[in-house]
Amino acid sequence: MDNSSSDHDSQPEVVSNIFTERFTEFNDDGTFKNELVEHTIETEATVPKLGLMLVGLGGNNGSTLVAGLLAHKNQVTWESKTGVHTPNYYGSFTQCGTTKVGIKKLPKGGIKDVYKPVKDLLPTINPTDMEVTGWDISKDNLFEACKRSHVLEPDLVNKLESDLSQIVPMKAAFNPEYIAANQSDRVDNILEGTNEEVIELIRADIRNCKERNEKVIVLWTANTEMYLLPELETIEDLEKAIKDNVSLPASVLYCVAAIKEQVLYLNGSPQNTFHPGVLALAEKEGGLLGGNDFKSGQTRFKTAMSDFLIGAGLRISSIVSYNHLGNNDGKNLSEDKCFQSKKISKSGCLDDAIEGNEILYPRDGKDIDHDVIIRYIPFVGDSKRALDEYSSKIFMDGVNTISTYNICEDSLLAVPIMIDMVVLGELFSRMKVDGKAFGPVLSYLSFFFKAPSTNHPEYVINSFNRQRETIVNLLKAASGITPDDATLLSFNY
Ligand code: NAD
Repeated sequence: MDNSSSDHDSQPEVVSNIFTERFTEFNDDGTFKNELVEHTIETEATVPKLGLMLVGLGGNNGSTLVAGLLAHKNQVTWESKTGVHTPNYYGSFTQCGTTKVGIKKLPKGGIKDVYKPVKDLLPTINPTDMEVTGWDISKDNLFEACKRSHVLEPDLVNKLESDLSQIVPMKAAFNPEYIAANQSDRVDNILEGTNEEVIELIRADIRNCKERNEKVIVLWTANTEMYLLPELETIEDLEKAIKDNVSLPASVLYCVAAIKEQVLYLNGSPQNTFHPGVLALAEKEGGLLGGNDFKSGQTRFKTAMSDFLIGAGLRISSIVSYNHLGNNDGKNLSEDKCFQSKKISKSGCLDDAIEGNEILYPRDGKDIDHDVIIRYIPFVGDSKRALDEYSSKIFMDGVNTISTYNICEDSLLAVPIMIDMVVLGELFSRMKVDGKAFGPVLSYLSFFFKAPSTNHPEYVINSFNRQRETIVNLLKAASGITPDDATLLSFNY
């Protein structure tokens, strides 16, 4: 690997590294060939001024993200009954994660590992430098939105009042058919017009944001919508549905506007916004997409737990997941049409783990019994409860059951992940491998999504460890560091 041009002190315009990828290709008859493929990975080194546009700015996630970044920017401390608190980014892989980058030989003999913060491998944006704006169907300003969400401590929200109250969501694209009827009491801020007109209005908002920033990212953190079926199979189907003013989910209108403006569109909810016709449009117009559905709590744990259980040779046979939550997301999910989107998104996360072990899961054998139940219990607010039961078959057909009970503020888990997907999405949009940019789907963001969308629908990685390894190794390769093969053969381990 040539790391000569990645000397950060000399501030190159492009960080360029040659990386030799190694993999083994198998034939149907079991024979294989070891491949070595040389790639040039180039990353533009200048970090742009970024405008982040949230769809659902005034929701629990949107308002918590804005307040959290303001608290960081202004170093605001706040008091609760447990004492004085200072802002942190705990839960953010980019801001708090580190990775082993190599070893150091000790003067007296022996070795020790060397770690680096993930955010320092390549130039990345500082989250507090972003301008955050966006749309909401409710025109409450962000001070009111933070009060409504009951996520952050009142002392902090009150200290941020003058900044928060100046941020008012822009008028939103809205189609009530696709979200729960119980959301109607917050609708007072919507764009009027045909599909075509609304897309044009959203595009104008994005262009305004572009005028103040060098790059823009749109992130859907609005209500979970019902699936649109049948899917829009081709660009022609999509364009016809727009032109004929067919009743389309708002997410499709935002996504098309983002594609046309060639800005990254991230989908934090489970609905099927990325129809084949939408993906084809993104490919044609140079759009960039990442999704779907933030992988923040129960599913993230499930993909780590299944790494552990199946990785240890145990046969997970049943997983029953139950949650209750009392925030507005829970209220929206209490209507079956929206819950079904969430259920689909939460259900597929073990497919690759099963596929990967034919001893435990023979092709003609049974899958895992897997069910997901969600209930709306207003009393618990944003503090979601997740109860999971993992039953595995063990030696001689014994059964091992592990039950977990997690209580956590939902938005305080989601916001660091939103920051991560924006920081890395922005970075990946500055990268080229062998002269070609990533896209139309930023599959490397799979680590942050429950139901990852990739450029190869047949190849989806859900495993927590594999997703993390893929992203970290890409960052290392692009920054001139050899991804470690972990054999330790040179060190007499
Ligand atoms: P929320 O209900 O508090 O916020 C959603 C906001 O979107 C609301 O303010 C609503 O008024 C607004 N909205 C609805 N339709 C809109 C539209 N068409 N245009 C603009 N704004 C619109 O929900 P939340 O807790 O912030 O979660 C947001 C989304 O993230 C939900 O779909 C949820 O399922 C998803 N999600 C959340 C988590 C998590 O919080 N841990 C994890 C995974 C996915």
